[in-house]
Amino acid sequence: MKIGIFGGTFNPVHFGHLRAAEELAQNFLDKVIFIPTNITSNKKMPGIDPEKRMEMLNIAIKNNKKFEASDIEIKRGGLSYSYDTIIQLKKIYPSDELYFIAGVDAYSDVKNWKNGAEIFDKINFIVVNRSGMKSDSKNLVKLTGFLPDNLKERIKLEYSQNRLVTPKNKYIYFLKITRLDISSTAIRNNFKNNISNLFLLPNEVINYIINNKLY
Ligand code: ATP
Ligand code: MG
Repeated sequence: MKIGIFGGTFNPVHFGHLRAAEELAQNFLDKVIFIPTNITSNKKMPGIDPEKRMEMLNIAIKNNKKFEASDIEIKRGGLSYSYDTIIQLKKIYPSDELYFIAGVDAYSDVKNWKNGAEIFDKINFIVVNRSGMKSDSKNLVKLTGFLPDNLKERIKLEYSQNRLVTPKNKYIYFLKITRLDISSTAIRNNFKNNISNLFLLPNEVINYIINNKLY
């Protein structure tokens, strides 16, 4: 099975995440597992418990058979590093193909991730566009540019497949999705300023946020 691993803070989950996962599940993957972070090292979090972010995910995905949410980062506790999650998931799914899903913005920071170079020996990647980045052939060159230096020199570009190939034969795909210019930051700001968030995230998640006075 091809399984997508979609990590993030999901504070809150929104249609940008959900639509990306839906299109990948339609066209490429058999299943997408959303994994909310416990504590994110590179983010100032406005104090929303991981359990509440998980609950919002569960509400958002409950009717989609190809979607799952996992609390492995929450259960592990402490700072959440994608590398640790990937090692753990490879043990849980030893005979499946795992693909780590990341928006370009997250992927562009990959050099600074824990074991940023080694990570590409362990798992395939699917990078999806976010607003501001056009989908064209130059993007594979751009994706190469974000890689750690020692990997950059040994990477192969396969334009016909929209992917990079690492020396260990792992793939880094760049896949087009419908670009939705939605971010959790903008949604939190809207809540703070009493501006409507209708059609940016599922209504049931909006209700959960209002009932629990999250933002
Ligand atoms: P914040 O504004 O708090 O950073 P966010 O909207 O960027 O929130 P994250 O939880 O940080 O959401 O993102 C998790 C993953 O989803 C990242 O890989 C990010 O690039 C991707 N992502 C977030 N929003 C979108 C979107 N609108 N379209 C495609 N990918 C997205
Ligand atoms: Mg983000």
